Amino acid sequence: MNTSFEIYLVIVFKLLYIISIMITTHKLSKYKQKLHRLIDQIDSLAFVCAHQDPLIQGVPSQVFRKCGKPSCGCFKDSAKRHGPYLVVQVVKEGKQKQVALKKSQKAIWQKAKNYQTQRKNYLKLKQTTEQLNGLVKEIIQLRTEGINS
Ligand SMILES: [Zn+2]
Repeated sequence: MNTSFEIYLVIVFKLLYIISIMITTHKLSKYKQKLHRLIDQIDSLAFVCAHQDPLIQGVPSQVFRKCGKPSCGCFKDSAKRHGPYLVVQVVKEGKQKQVALKKSQKAIWQKAKNYQTQRKNYLKLKQTTEQLNGLVKEIIQLRTEGINS
């Protein structure tokens, strides 16, 4: 091989190396933006749990009922059923139980509803934390290079 060709090859390899560093730098700044976004999400999701209002572990819903009187409109037409009534599904001694609430017990229903919101929020937080872990792993892989000897 002649010398000028060797010099040419060295220059080409150096250029390729510089380009690869530029690409990595660009990717890293994109990754940093993603990191910030995930950390902001985690920050707000984590603090939702810190409200002070009490919660009730149950699934709230509204039901409509038939009264059973043949003369009542609900007897034939399910659109004319009575309600909505507030109920909460709870687990007592390992069994699902539906607790019917009085109108004056709307606060209990709301506490169960808030519990469900907190639960959803917790699951979202868990997901986001996993995304953050995955991203950090990717970034470390991106920065890791082999040894050229
Ligand atoms: Zn009825």
